[in-house]
Amino acid sequence: MVAPSASSPPKPLSAPQKAMRKMGLVRDIDLALHIPLRYEDETRIVKLKEAREGDSVQIEATVTASEVQLRPRRQLLVTVDDGTATCVLRFFSFYPAQQKALAVGQVIRARGEIRGGFLGLTMMHPAFKSATGDLPSALTPVYPTSAGLPQAYLRRAIAGALSRADLSESLPPSLAWPQAPRGQVMHSLRQALTYLHHPAADASIAALEDRSHPAWQRLKAEELLAQQLSQHMAKQERDRLRAPALKAKKGGWHDQLQAALPFQLTAAQQRVGEEIGQDLARPVPMHRLLQGDVGAGKTVVAALAAMLAIDAGWQCALMAPTEILAQQHFAKLVGWLAPLGVQVAWLTGSQKKKERTEMLALIASGEAALVVGTHAVIQEQVKFKNLALAVIDEQHRFGVAQRLALRDKMQEEGMEPHLLMMTATPIPRTLAMSYYADLEVSVIDELPPGRTPVVTKVISDSRRDEVIGRIGAQLAEGRQVYWVCPLIEESEALDLTNATATHEELSAVLPGVTVGLLHSRMSVIEKRDVMAQFTQGSMGVLVSTTVIEVGVDVPNASLMVIEHAERFGLSQLHQLRGRVGRGAAASACVLLYGTPEGGRLSETARERLRAMVDTSDGFEIARRDLEIRGPGEFLGARQSGAPLLRFADLATDEDLLVWARQIAPMLLAKYPEMAERHIARWLGGKSEFLKA
Ligand code: ADP
Ligand code: MG
Repeated sequence: MVAPSASSPPKPLSAPQKAMRKMGLVRDIDLALHIPLRYEDETRIVKLKEAREGDSVQIEATVTASEVQLRPRRQLLVTVDDGTATCVLRFFSFYPAQQKALAVGQVIRARGEIRGGFLGLTMMHPAFKSATGDLPSALTPVYPTSAGLPQAYLRRAIAGALSRADLSESLPPSLAWPQAPRGQVMHSLRQALTYLHHPAADASIAALEDRSHPAWQRLKAEELLAQQLSQHMAKQERDRLRAPALKAKKGGWHDQLQAALPFQLTAAQQRVGEEIGQDLARPVPMHRLLQGDVGAGKTVVAALAAMLAIDAGWQCALMAPTEILAQQHFAKLVGWLAPLGVQVAWLTGSQKKKERTEMLALIASGEAALVVGTHAVIQEQVKFKNLALAVIDEQHRFGVAQRLALRDKMQEEGMEPHLLMMTATPIPRTLAMSYYADLEVSVIDELPPGRTPVVTKVISDSRRDEVIGRIGAQLAEGRQVYWVCPLIEESEALDLTNATATHEELSAVLPGVTVGLLHSRMSVIEKRDVMAQFTQGSMGVLVSTTVIEVGVDVPNASLMVIEHAERFGLSQLHQLRGRVGRGAAASACVLLYGTPEGGRLSETARERLRAMVDTSDGFEIARRDLEIRGPGEFLGARQSGAPLLRFADLATDEDLLVWARQIAPMLLAKYPEMAERHIARWLGGKSEFLKA
């Protein structure tokens, strides 16, 4: 039995307190860092005669009439007069108390947008209060809030928290904050926050809104410093953890696989292989990102890394984001490894119970040295005998929590598996410096030899028949063809109709050819069957929605047709195009574009498609894509769950980022307590996620 606690039970939270908690506004500092969305100017009174339609103003006036009208709709009409003109305030919903506050003779201050119209000047649902007390001397903050948390309550809570919060400086005098723009002096944290919550009446709203004001700069610098510090700390902590040191074994499976490969590794593959090998040989968990363009040959590098682990007597797991991709990896790896006598297990959500039970047993006993699969690999029930290396393909598709779960598969206390993450999406510089600062990066910067570059053509949909003719020619040569149907954002159902129609069309005009259909609504088993037929070559044409986007490898496919290519992102087109040109045969990619009835393709769309013709360099394409779409896409899952940058913007604040990167290691080395306090202040309990 639990002894009754001496202290009285905690008071239940009020509704606004609960709402604040839900928004993460718990500590004084959380509230102090809850910055207004915008400001309202209650410092001035505008005379009605001077107010123009569309102005948002505050007036002070006396109520001269107040009546409830029932038609056309129940509403309260309050006429006010400020001595220069009259104005009608209209309320469609109102409480008796409000009606009383707006009784004839009351002097009120009302804020809202002035409108003209039938009744003369009006305001719809203005905010109002009785005209007592002085006008405030600062702008009134309007905070992001949520249901059950009134602005006024939040304002009071924040004002209180701001006066209580510990806002001591995070940098010793020997380390300087960056220079504010235009030579202005950087505020102290207290000055900056006080200013942002209560800007002076004459503040530049523009500088506050575009976040260029020195107070904003200070906040951004603080935030970026916290991010850099936590990344450094995560790395230091990881360096304290242990991982099995996987020493290469002469003549082991690694060497045997390399000797058995039907090709020579490229110089780039060899180089990154060595980088990975060196990491694995250390008793510290590797945390490495392997970047390489589509088709650069990342899989074999991962397989060789796996062999190093297995040579040393440990297990390796390889995880892919989709079942199709995982299946491909499995087939390829079994093809390479079965002849060597290495057992590979397969885990996926769609698996039959019996098979799954068998696989789980093989994994637990250690008989399966390599485990390939989807998210199923990290499920609770999966117990490894001794996992030493986890490989994550297309890492941007995985969430932080999933990566953490994979690392939890290590049985020994204080030990972590090595982690190799792979991606075909190059990471732009500022992102590499911020969100990925704790990763080592290896780049495969050359493609295997003998690839004939893919010829890309941009063709109007009106020449569809010609394109279909080309399909016939490819098929006659024993080649295979992909036809990708566009994503229709608004409707998955439409997507499907579209792909189905194209499938019927091609089946009709290509008699005697097996035309397959692949879309996201199919069951995993149906998908697998279709992919198997295409991979084995018994299917000539594969019509699909974008489900084939990642990683599929069928070297005999030599033509890729992408319908409504103008609707795809550049990186996505690049990924899709990468499905062809994988063998020695000359390959082509046709970008079909549709035009609105009688119209022309827009200039930007044209430019984007042209970029695809101009270059096949994934890094260049990613750069152009970043220009067009901004960084969100690139962060993908790494960001989800991790503390986001709330204030800094990598597109505009690169100089502050560079500063934070320099200062963080110095602060951490010389003033660790200050560094820790800074992280706690900014990230609270959330820094866990950065370690993934
Ligand atoms: P990605 O980097 O896009 O994952 P893959 O690993 O799927 O690329 O490799 C693409 C194709 O190139 C595969 O068929 C693979 O077997 C082949 N390949 C990999 N490395 C070489 C090489 N050094 N020489 C020739 N072919 C290679
Ligand atoms: Mg791949």
